[in-house]
Amino acid sequence: MKGSLFVVSAPSGAGKTSLVAKLIEKDPAIVVSISSTTRDKRPGEENGVNYHFLSVDEFQQRIEQGDFLEHAQVFDNFYGTSKSSVEKQLGAGKDVILEIDWQGAQQVRKLMPETISIFILPPSKQELRRRLTGRGTDSEEIIERRMADAESEMSHYAEFDYIVINNNFDIALEELNSIFKAQRLTQQRQYSSHKNLIHGLFEN
Ligand code: GDP
Ligand code: ADP
Ligand code: 5GP
Repeated sequence: MKGSLFVVSAPSGAGKTSLVAKLIEKDPAIVVSISSTTRDKRPGEENGVNYHFLSVDEFQQRIEQGDFLEHAQVFDNFYGTSKSSVEKQLGAGKDVILEIDWQGAQQVRKLMPETISIFILPPSKQELRRRLTGRGTDSEEIIERRMADAESEMSHYAEFDYIVINNNFDIALEELNSIFKAQRLTQQRQYSSHKNLIHGLFEN
């Protein structure tokens, strides 16, 4: 049985990376797709772990080769999702999370309409700014750029299947976790996991 594809989007700083990291820690059947990006590496980030860090030329080449399931320009950088890696993991029965922006979410929905999409909102704009500053990874200029874009990113919330408000972290994590749990209980997935049991119920 193939895994399910999930998209998680949020304005920068809302907490999606922290929430998704905790979620997969608890559940080995879920993996996160490692995106490619042209943005600068932050202190503590590793190539091949957080992102595949590429030059603009290398990124363009991948686009031309058709390597990306989706790609988009976010802020002043390019970001893209590897098609082959996502297909391989879904084929191995893993649930795959794409941490991508709303433009990428639109592209993926078009290609794979069964995708489950989740939008993470911060409790307020002031708290979003506090988190971006508190994370300590970006300059004041980059934070201003991200705050300026937050409202247009958030304006796409209604395109998503689920909304999680990340006020209290543990509550948000539990809510996110319950979306993944519910997806495994859909009729389709339950049928393929318990075919024999279900058929047995109708035998004499
Ligand atoms: P952070 O979200 O604040 O940690 O900042 P990043 O620089 O890591 O990511 C910037 C934005 O790019 C994120 O909010 C994502 O929505 C988006 N993004 C990351 N990877 C991808 C990708 O592979 N494709 C697309 N379309 N967007 C991505
Ligand atoms: P994103 O990936 O959406 O940009 P991060 O996961 O990097 O966001 O979170 C941004 C910052 O906010 C991090 O420093 C993180 O520790 C903090 N953070 C995340 N969720 C919460 C929360 N519920 N309460 C307080 N701080 C949070
Ligand atoms: P950051 O650079 O702070 O890690 O991410 C900035 C933005 O880029 C976030 O909104 C994040 O969701 C988005 N992003 C990261 N990877 C991808 C990707 O592969 N595709 C798309 N479309 N957006 C991405």
